[in-house]
This record gives sequence, structure tokens and C-alpha cells, in this order.
Amino acid sequence: MISFAELGVEKNILDAIEELGFVKPMPVQEEVIPQLIQKVSGDIVALAQTGTGKTAAFGLPIIQNTQTNKNHVQYLILSPTRELCVQIADDLISFSKYKKGVKVAAVFGGSSMERQIKMIKQGAQIISATPGRLLDLIKRKAVKLSKIDTVILDEADEMLNMGFRDELEAILQNTPEHKNTLLFSATMPKEVLAISKNYMHDPIEITIGKKNVGAENVKHEYYMVHAKDRYLALKRIADYYPEIYGIIFCRTRKETQEVADMLIKDGYNADSLHGDLSQAQRDNVMNKFRIKHLRLLVATDVAARGLDVDNLSHIINYNLPDELEIYTHRSGRTGRAGRTGTSIVIANMREKKKIKDIERLLNKNFELKEIPSGRAICEKQLYHLIDRMEKVVVDYSEIESFLPNIFKKLEWLDREELIKKFVSLEFNRFLAYYKNTKELNAPSDKQSRDRQSREKQPRLDSSEYSRFFINLGKRDNIKPVNIIGMVNDFTGIRDINIGEIEILNNFSFFETDRKYEDDVLKSFRNKERNGREINVEVSEKKKSSKRKKDKSKKKKQTGTNAAPPKKLLRKRRR
Ligand code: ADP
Ligand code: MG
Repeated sequence: MISFAELGVEKNILDAIEELGFVKPMPVQEEVIPQLIQKVSGDIVALAQTGTGKTAAFGLPIIQNTQTNKNHVQYLILSPTRELCVQIADDLISFSKYKKGVKVAAVFGGSSMERQIKMIKQGAQIISATPGRLLDLIKRKAVKLSKIDTVILDEADEMLNMGFRDELEAILQNTPEHKNTLLFSATMPKEVLAISKNYMHDPIEITIGKKNVGAENVKHEYYMVHAKDRYLALKRIADYYPEIYGIIFCRTRKETQEVADMLIKDGYNADSLHGDLSQAQRDNVMNKFRIKHLRLLVATDVAARGLDVDNLSHIINYNLPDELEIYTHRSGRTGRAGRTGTSIVIANMREKKKIKDIERLLNKNFELKEIPSGRAICEKQLYHLIDRMEKVVVDYSEIESFLPNIFKKLEWLDREELIKKFVSLEFNRFLAYYKNTKELNAPSDKQSRDRQSREKQPRLDSSEYSRFFINLGKRDNIKPVNIIGMVNDFTGIRDINIGEIEILNNFSFFETDRKYEDDVLKSFRNKERNGREINVEVSEKKKSSKRKKDKSKKKKQTGTNAAPPKKLLRKRRR
């Protein structure tokens, strides 16, 4: 096992990282540190995931090589977000704890420009910056990059994803020709390759195994639910893990805020982290999350990028990301530092293929999990409560003086009743909430969903159904499954009772619970199938020998079916 000293790291830095608990170098550090310290090669492109120890890989060598007797900028690190930029500056300051005279400036948007300019003027040799703000400072001539030794592009893929391409190019054009460039990226899309082609000279390429440090320790699970049940499913999952400490990833800022608001309203220790918040708000949220005051952080990918928290128990994908690679970033946030973690996807039927794609990408299988039932959650919470009660440390000296009165007050309760009451005090919220909750699992294939949802429904009496005409039939390739699907999807009422379905050549009939008649009519309005407008109207009851005759119906019916409304027939034959 090679040590940091053997990689060429000098004493003062070894002392600093020892305090940080670094024992042996991580793979990316083993590769990059000697290259940078001895400047054996020029430019480097390193493919490495989050959590692989990149900051120290470039950070230790640049601290070691910083010329503290000079006051010009020697090293520039560009990263995509304010958080990441601050984190990097912070890490560098820790690494330089025992090296006098190293000055690091963090340059990022949303914070006082004057202070940042002052830091640079005081002779910062290292700047950690986000591209936007740095370019502003360059334009104001507040920073000079003409004597830069090395530029480090950290999380280059993410910088380009965030649309920093022009800023990056403008910044690189302000740096000297002979400098070295080091580019880190988790993925290598075309845009990143283009940057390396245009701005780097014969870079050596390093690939650090496909996996994160923690990837081995991450379990991947998914739950199948209907899209509209996502939030309920999230709550069940959170409730099922009383010790949960995790990040919930959403796709948009709006969704992030909404989910966080709902969680807060429902009594969870949760908050949101996204780009619409001010810097002060973000700092506040991150600090509370770090000290576990918040157990659930609802975040966008970009905002969560820089958050360095090692002991997360869960990552929850409230929605799958549009780009599969992002899933790797997300799940890499858990299972770090030797701990195990779980990455959960709340998926709907349409996302099954995406899950397959991710499985292929990660070369790992996802486990399909059942959303825990209300009963299972109650049980879990209850035992958790009991465990806590057993373990709680009683501060006798503090409560001593109150005890006589309390004992007296509770004298009338026997032990069993006392326990029941104490437990209920904490537990009633769960009992009440989960008393009559429905099943949330979406069966994983469509057929069984149709079968199940039909079988589960008690048949209604024929008079309790409304019968509908629909202008789609066999020649439109309509099957009962499709009708059920449309009724469920359009109305959004999952447990609507659907009666008989009769498919004819040109049109069909179906029945649903009468109390939803209006919902069905409304929900089918302005709907299309294969480009054709769908028409649904209430039709007359069918006469059926199997069922009790509906005595109130006196109208004659033609054949087995009520005739379709005329105007629809006309439309159809046009
Ligand atoms: P990345 O930039 O690749 O996402 P970081 O540089 O943020 O990864 O490192 C991830 C975590 O691992 C940090 O908490 C860091 O302090 C820790 N770390 C880095 N190198 C080592 C090491 N050699 N030994 C132990 N922990 C390390
Ligand atoms: Mg990093």
C-alpha cells in the first residue's frame, strides 16, 4: 500500500491531512498527485465520479507547489456551483494548515464582490471560482490571470451542462499559453471533449474505475407507483425509515419547493435547497442539514452538487433525472466513507425502461420494493419509539424534584395502561394517518394491473352503473384494457369501479360507477387517440339476461346495444 509520503507529499501537508483522517491515498490521488507535484506531464484529463477524492488529488500538490513569496495568482480552480467553489477553498485552507503564507480566495456569485476583490488584492495565490463571477472580475480588471501556473476545471461536465461554455472559453483565453490544464469530469460528453481538444495540449488521460468509492456500498431500489401517488409514496418511505437522513432529488426548482413545503406542512424535518434561494438561505439550510437538524433535504441536482456530507442513509429520486449519468452522481452521495447507503427511485410505469437503462449503465440490478403498508410502517415506528424509550438516559438530578407529584398524579394507572398511554402519545399521529390508507403499489405489468383493479372491486348492482358510448372500436384496435386505461388515466380516479365493457367494430360501450358519471364525461372531453377526437356520451342501459332487469327502465332498446347518438355516427363516417 502506497502512502501519501511516497507520492511525494511533504511533511507539513502530511500533518494536515492526518488531522483530516486521510490514511491512504484514493486511486485518483495516487494517479494525479505525483504528476502534479513533479510536473511530469503537462495536461491531464481525469475521468472520475463524485466522492473519489478529487479535491485532494489536485489540492495537495497545488498547496505544496504554491510559491508563498509571490503574490500573484498561480492556481485557478473552476467549478460549477457556489457550494462546490466554497467547499474547495475550504478544503485547500485545511490542507495548508501547516504551510504559512498560502492565501486562497473564493470567487462566486451571490456574495459581495468587494470582499472577493479585496481577498485577491491581498495576494491570493489560489483562486477557487465559479465561471460567471470570475469573468465579471476579469472584465473589471480586478483579477489578473497572466501568470497562472495551472488551471483546474473541476466537474467540467456539470459546468458545461449549466451553460458555462462561453464563460469557460473566455476565461481560458485570459490565461497564458504555457500553463497546465487539468480537467476533471464524471462523464465525457462531446462538449467536454471539445474543450479538451481546443484548450489542452496532448493531455494524458486517466480513468478512475467506473465506480465511486462508495458505489460498492450502495443498494439500488425502486418502487412502482402511479405518478400522482409519488408524494404519498415518499412519505411512506420516509416513515418506514425512522432514522432516515437523506437527500430527495427533484427535477425542477418549483417541484423541489413544493415537495419541501408539503413535507414541512406534514411535520417532517425537511427543507429545500435550490437556486432560487439567496446565498444566506442556502448556507442556513446546508448548515442545518449537516448537523442533522434537518433529516430530509429536498434539492435540485445543481444545488446538491457541492454538499459534502458523508453519512447519508438514503438518496431518494423523487423523479428520475433526464440524463442517466446524473443518477450516478445522485446515488454516489450515499454509501460514502465506508458506510452503506440506499438509493431509491420512486418510479411510474413509464419509467421502467429508464431503470433498465440505468441498470445497464451501472452494471447493477435494482430491487423492486413494495411500498410499505400502513400497518408495516406503524409497526416499525412503534418499535423505534420503544427502542428510544429503552435507551433514553434519565437525568435523575434534574427530574428528581418533579417525580413525587408525577407519581402521585399517575397513581391510578397500572403499568400496562401507563405504557399504552405513553406510546399512544407519540404514536397516534401515525395510527390516525395510516388507519384507512390505500395500496400505493402499481403492479409492474399493465395486464395484472387491470385484472387486479377489476378483481378487487366489488361488483355493483347494475343500477349503480352509468353506461357510456365511446366512438372507438375494434377497427381502432381498442381492447378493454385500453378503455380501462383511459378511464383511469383521464379521470385520475384509480379505484373507480368499471363494469361491463363491450367492444364493437366502430364503437364501444363501457360502464362505470354512476357516482363518477360527470367525472368521466368531463375527463374525456377534448381527448384524442391517434389524432382522432374521442367522443364519450352517456348511453342507455343495456338489457341483459345475466343481470337483474332494471325495472325503472322502460325505454325500448335496439338489439343488444343502445344505439349510439346520431351525431357521433355522422362525425365518424365523414
Ligand atoms: P470528489 O471531489 O471526487 O467528489 P472529494 O474530494 O469531495 O471528492 O472527497 C470526498 C470525501 O472523501 C471528502 O469528505 C474527503 O474529505 C474525503 N477524502 C478524500 N481523500 C481521502 C483519503 N485519502 N482518505 C480518506 N478520506 C478522504
Ligand atoms: Mg469535488
